[in-house]
Amino acid sequence: MFNALLVDKNTETGNTEARITSLSIDDLPAGDVLVAVDYSTVNYKDGLCLGAGGGLVRSYPHIPGIDFAGTVEASQDARFTPGDKVVLTGWRVGEMHWGGYSQKARVNADWLVPLPEGLTPRQAMAVGTAGFTAMLAVLGLEKQGLKPGAGPVLVTGAAGGVGSVATALLANLGYDVAAVTGRPETESYLRALGATQLVPRSSLSETVKRPLESEAWAGCIDAVGSSMLARILGQMQYGASVAAVGLAGGADLPASVIPFLLRGVNLLGIDSVLQPYENRRVAWERLAKDLPLEKLESMIQVAQLSDLPQLGRDILAGQVKGRIVVDVN
Ligand code: NDP
Repeated sequence: MFNALLVDKNTETGNTEARITSLSIDDLPAGDVLVAVDYSTVNYKDGLCLGAGGGLVRSYPHIPGIDFAGTVEASQDARFTPGDKVVLTGWRVGEMHWGGYSQKARVNADWLVPLPEGLTPRQAMAVGTAGFTAMLAVLGLEKQGLKPGAGPVLVTGAAGGVGSVATALLANLGYDVAAVTGRPETESYLRALGATQLVPRSSLSETVKRPLESEAWAGCIDAVGSSMLARILGQMQYGASVAAVGLAGGADLPASVIPFLLRGVNLLGIDSVLQPYENRRVAWERLAKDLPLEKLESMIQVAQLSDLPQLGRDILAGQVKGRIVVDVN
């Protein structure tokens, strides 16, 4: 028997309720690898799946947790043997499939990536889907030719999970990082991660009035979307790229096409869920190499399964700083 955080839906009220439940291996869904989960984490999507689901969860009862790191306990797939350390992000685990808020998970072998050398399961979940996505965004900007020295790179939602890892990664790679935050009290935290400029959220919150403003940014990793992303497009340097990662400020994009047409600005879409295996491996290797572990440590808040319902509400309210590591044991 093992413990998991099970979310159930009351069919009469439509309300969801989360509780820690004891399950047996036979309760787990089919899959070819059984993993003893060491750590999971809390991402924005987990906040949705811990509550009403936001349309992501298909059936109840459900175990959320869109990512986890742990140790293979049994495998019917030749690529994995008991004792292997693995990490899982994406593939709609924790949404359509039972996820990582559990001491055991049974999953498809194709969804697992070997833990890169140099990262522990705890550190891998301090990175989590948020940090993995930040790395994909950096890789996307590099592919477009971004190099240190080109000018400041903007990171929005900087004190959140994606933003914190993006800030630390870019700063460590030698970029001048301008961090956008709506929480001025996070200034010393963001500067310690390597931000050289703080940009108040309010300065980018007005909707687009002029399609082109001064060319300020050599690149951008945007976790916010909506009118902030629209404003940023008009502030990019000629030929520069914005990696669109998130929608913390809204899913709309009230923008003009003028920055694309007159400044050759590029808008790059970043998806972490269905990335092919080889891209995942490369991103995890780069994280192990380029993310300074002492900065990663400074982002961590440790939690237990019982803390998750409250943390889910906090992350949806934009109140979580950095990364939460959930010790499921
Ligand atoms: P967090 O809640 O940790 O971070 C989001 C940050 O955005 C907040 O900390 C806050 O930063 C800022 N923010 C929140 N609300 C607003 C608002 N209304 N207007 C402007 N800024 C706001 O979430 P994550 O970092 O885990 O995820 C960030 C986004 O990225 C989410 O939308 C998530 O769904 C998406 N995402 C996408 C992935 C993909 O595959 N494309 C994968 C992972 C996440 P501050 O206080 O510093 O202003």
